[in-house]
Amino acid sequence: MHEYALMQALMDRVGEEAAARRALAVHRIVVRIGDLSGVEADLLESAFEIVRAGTMCEGAALEIERVPATWVCSGCGQPVPSGGRLQCGGCGFPARLAAGGEILLGRIELEVP
Ligand SMILES: [Zn+2]
Repeated sequence: MHEYALMQALMDRVGEEAAARRALAVHRIVVRIGDLSGVEADLLESAFEIVRAGTMCEGAALEIERVPATWVCSGCGQPVPSGGRLQCGGCGFPARLAAGGEILLGRIELEVP
């Protein structure tokens, strides 16, 4: 049920945005999920079906964008290719995740009066 809680949190954010802009309805929600976030797009979509009922997002489309994992050196900041040893070829420091571990609200399209 991780995805359900996540979707609920995203919907809360969307609701706040919509209220702040006095929107009448939400048309589209774009969610970006990192490849290493551990979130299943399918489960997120099913959660959306449940969570949106009776909300301003009832008629909204959910769009999911995958964000590939990218790594950088924790020492010098150079990009480190994924798939191999996650270590910098230059200075030998371990790589850290630069993108692909997160879930973000990408974009919201609102109907504003
Ligand atoms: Zn380095």
